[in-house]
Amino acid sequence: MSLSTSSPSHDVLTDWASQRWLPVARSGSHDTVPAGIRFAFYGRMSTEEWQDPATSRRWQYDSANALVAGHGAIVTEFFDIGYTRRRGWHHRPQAAALLKLLADRCRGFDAVVVGESDRVFYGKQLILLAPVFAEHGVGLWLPDMHGPLDIGDAAHQAVLLEIGKHSRREVLRARYRTTAAMQAQAREEGRYLGGRPPYGYRLADAGPHPNRAFAKWGRRRHRFEPDPDTAPWVRWMFARRLEGCSYAGIARALNEAGVPCPSEADPQRNRHRHNHAWALRSVASILGNPRYTGRQVWNRQNKQHPAEDDIKAQLAGRQPPRHWNLPDGWVISKTQAHPALVSEQDFVAAQCIRAVPQPADGTTRTYLLTGLLRCGGCGRKMEGHWAHGRPGYRCRHGRNSANPAAGQRSRNLYRREDDLIGCLMAAARPSGPLSMLVDKLLPPSTGQQLAEALRRHQVSIVCRLDGLTIEPGGHRIPQMFTTRQRGTRLDLDYATSTVVE
Ligand SMILES: [Zn+2]
Repeated sequence: MSLSTSSPSHDVLTDWASQRWLPVARSGSHDTVPAGIRFAFYGRMSTEEWQDPATSRRWQYDSANALVAGHGAIVTEFFDIGYTRRRGWHHRPQAAALLKLLADRCRGFDAVVVGESDRVFYGKQLILLAPVFAEHGVGLWLPDMHGPLDIGDAAHQAVLLEIGKHSRREVLRARYRTTAAMQAQAREEGRYLGGRPPYGYRLADAGPHPNRAFAKWGRRRHRFEPDPDTAPWVRWMFARRLEGCSYAGIARALNEAGVPCPSEADPQRNRHRHNHAWALRSVASILGNPRYTGRQVWNRQNKQHPAEDDIKAQLAGRQPPRHWNLPDGWVISKTQAHPALVSEQDFVAAQCIRAVPQPADGTTRTYLLTGLLRCGGCGRKMEGHWAHGRPGYRCRHGRNSANPAAGQRSRNLYRREDDLIGCLMAAARPSGPLSMLVDKLLPPSTGQQLAEALRRHQVSIVCRLDGLTIEPGGHRIPQMFTTRQRGTRLDLDYATSTVVE
């Protein structure tokens, strides 16, 4: 037994390789680590890059280490994982911790070194941060300068600009490449591209990842399969909708039956929401989700990235706002990607259902003052409400029929449109509080013209039980008549109107 090829309890090669390696002393120098400058290493990787964090950190560290060799040693490190480079330093935890230490004399390092500049600085970040380092006397070592950055050097300034531009170009190129690849994967293969499965489905394993490099380090493909607890409720919701039920009615029925709502069924979803009840919107979003047809649909939402020159947004690194794309912008898989919970015919039919009954005579209902009225009690916009054959406006103070009526709540506020227009027309007369807002040569003669004038001057009307208030300005119009006093409609006397500042 002279040669042993493997021994499970004692991995000779790993032990040997992982021992602490001290740099070999250079000729003429007797001191080893730590000599000279004490460096803090900073690196970053984003999860979107699908990299192995250990590998990414390793090569950035090695690059930084090579840069400082002979000048000192890295004594501490800061590494952000899962943050895009667009996010400013103050908004990446490790980078923020490093920046905070700059002002501390006992920080334990003299300079900061990075392994790849455009991986950690995006756009104008470096130009804005360089003076901060200089102010605290902390050097910034970049591979692009082959050493420390000298902010006063014109050549270095040119390189700084170049780093920011390069970083930005790389992000744009990567985004374009990723988008194109994802569209193709979604359309051609119906591949699941991430995100939480919709209510009614759960994630199931679909074998090793098709990219062999990814598969090698264990990434798997996933697809949706019906969740036995929640899938029946999705089918039930589509069936009710096809019978003409309103979203609110469906939500109420689900709440009454004690069916767990999406955030309850999957606590990892919507962690910011604590209201464990079905809401009208969650029902609407489920019934409008085309993925229940078994097709994979991508690009229903898009991110609006901040403009390239929006430095504030770049430094803050806020998540770009998302917008819903219209169905013509969706990428729909050519084939079924997972079991359907609703047929395509039924899904399309459900999209065409309008639960609000249309007038029998086929006329459309118009509300002249839509968007112009606010509730004085809760501040919400008042909604159009048709009652007794006439347009009107109401505020339910946030309540809707999806949630059961609470015991104690203020009464709905309701105003008839003709009453409101009468009031406002009177207020728009030459001596009235709305007179300055309407064209004196052409005073409004119809409700339509009045509404247009209010919109043009960006005036809104706050409705209270005791009258109306014009905003901005706060001029009050006393409510001289209500529906009960109809027939005794009097001319308004503006001597009694008060101004509330
Ligand atoms: Zn209200």
